Order: sequence, then structure tokens, then C-alpha cells
Amino acid sequence: MQSESQKQGLLERLDCGPVICAEGYLFQLEQRGYVQAGAFVPEVVLDHPEVVRQLHRDFVHAGSDVVEAFTYYAHREKLRRIGKEHLLEEMNHQALALAKEVAAEAGALVAGNICNTNVFADDEPSRKLVREMFEEQVGWAVDAGVDFIIAETFPFAGEALLALEVIKDAGLPAVVTLAIFLEPRTHDGLTPEEACRQLRDRGADVVGLNCGRGPRTMLPLLETVRSAVDGHVAALPVPYRTSADEPSFISLTDPACDCIPADRPFPTALDPFTCNRYEIAEFARSAHELGVDYLGLCCGAAPHHIRSLAEALGRTPPASRYSPDMSKHVVFGDEPSASYRNRAIAATRERARN
Ligand SMILES: [Zn+2]
Repeated sequence: MQSESQKQGLLERLDCGPVICAEGYLFQLEQRGYVQAGAFVPEVVLDHPEVVRQLHRDFVHAGSDVVEAFTYYAHREKLRRIGKEHLLEEMNHQALALAKEVAAEAGALVAGNICNTNVFADDEPSRKLVREMFEEQVGWAVDAGVDFIIAETFPFAGEALLALEVIKDAGLPAVVTLAIFLEPRTHDGLTPEEACRQLRDRGADVVGLNCGRGPRTMLPLLETVRSAVDGHVAALPVPYRTSADEPSFISLTDPACDCIPADRPFPTALDPFTCNRYEIAEFARSAHELGVDYLGLCCGAAPHHIRSLAEALGRTPPASRYSPDMSKHVVFGDEPSASYRNRAIAATRERARN
């Protein structure tokens, strides 16, 4: 294990090759029963820190180079709206401490996190409110000694630019990613490439896209972003099978099922759209070929996806020790006598049933 002083920072690592960052804590922990869908706030860091710690470990084991503090939506406005503002500071401190602890165990980078506020509008009062929220969260992350800050899932370029300003004022490297949903534009009307170019010009160290779209519908946008900006580009799609007709995971419909509340699979019935690990590997290779060098996945990601992404980039994370080897499989394996024996047993059982 590397000591803190030996540890390479984000930019040094990016100079040597791609950096992998697992996101998607909200969905993973919702599925495990520790986060409430709808409210979507990370109270789990206080109620069940051991669960968050383990998920951080699972993602690092699977190949993530970054442990992202689970402070998504742990901002003043969101907590105020659900009557939990009194937990704000404790929640942030605890999330940062957990991320730091696991990152230190593995020599991984630790990232603070700020995100879409849902109250941004392009006017002075809202800019002031949003800036204050970013400042307090970035301040706590700086106090915790993070390596860099991830500012993510912004539908507005203006909000992303504001986040970037706050991170740069704090003197930390900034990874800033936009969420592009149905229309291939930000909510303030910029193309992804124009928004990313502005972020890059104002000093973002890594710019790109996260959340919103699956691999298939994010890739074409990444191509335009890559050709519009120099420097490092990020891609963290949701691992869902979005399509030209339904480019965002919010717009997916499921004609095979008639019992989903409001007939909308997002966010709690997306299971049948989940990409398999091979689709994720293909995405990782394609994005990397384009020149995307900060790669990961967002809502819906599980550790097996991250391992597959890491292996597609030529890595062998600790979890690769358990990567599939079907030559050892009892039925499909190479060893003919075992495979024959099992087919014979299956056939005997079949005859007994008939
Ligand atoms: Zn997401």
C-alpha cells in the first residue's frame, strides 16, 4: 500500500492512463434497502456506515481508482425540503470520513462530491443560494483532505460553471460532468460540447458527461465533446439499454410489464433494461478509443460492471481473481468426463420426471 505522501494525484494518474471512478451509490443502496427512492438522500452514512464502507470497498475491489464520498443530494436545499436540514453537516462529515477511510486502505483517490441542486435558475438570487450550498459542501471536503472534487449530474451548464468556480476557489482539481437527458442539450440550451468547452476554458481539469443516458446514447455525444475540447474527458453513463427513441433512462418504457406504478420504469423498475457486463466492456473500449480517459458508471452500476470496465481497459483489479472461467463449469466446461456425467444425470432426472 502506498503512503499518503507517495500517492499519485488525479492529474498525475491521468497522465499515465485512464482513471476509473465508480458512481451509482444511490441506486445500489436503494436496491439494498438503505436509501429511500424519491427522497434519495444518503442518510445511510449515519444510519448504516458499515454498508457504505462495504460498497466503497466493493467498488475499489472491482477496479475503481476513486472512492467518491457519498454526499450526493446531501445539500442544504434537498435536506431542508424533506425536513432533515439538521443532519446536513454531520452527514457530509461522516460521508467524507468513510470515503477517506476506504481510500486510505487501498491507496485509492478520495473525491468530494457536489451535484445538481434542483433550485438553480439563471438569476442572481438562485445563483447566490446555490453558490452558498456549494461553498459549504466544498469547504467540508477541503477540511477532510480530499484529493479532488467531483461536481456532477448538472442539467444546467450555468450551474456546472458555478460549481467549478467554487472548487477552483478552494484550490482543488475539478471533475465536472453534465447530465444530458432527452434532448442533446443542457437545460440552458447549450450543446454538450459547447458546455464542456466553456468548463474546460474556465479551468475544469476533467469535463464530460455522467448519468442520464446509457452507453448507446451517450457515445455519440462523447464523440462531439471529445473533438471540441482538449484535455481530459469523462464518461459515466447509466448502465441501462437506452435507445434512439428513448435516449434517457428517465424516458424508458416497458411494454412487457403492466404493473409498474405510473407506468414509468424510472427509477425503481429499470431492472430489465440493465446492461450486462459485456455491453459495459464494449462501451469502455469504444469510449477509450475515442480518447475518453476518465471512465465509470452512474446510477444502476454494480461492482461486476466496474470490474468488466476495468478489464476492458487492460486492468486486473483484485476482483479479477474471480472473473468468469467457463472452462471450469460443470456442464459447459472443458473436462469431458465431468460434463458427460452431468448431462447423463440431467437426462436421468428428466426421464424420471416423465
Ligand atoms: Zn446517476
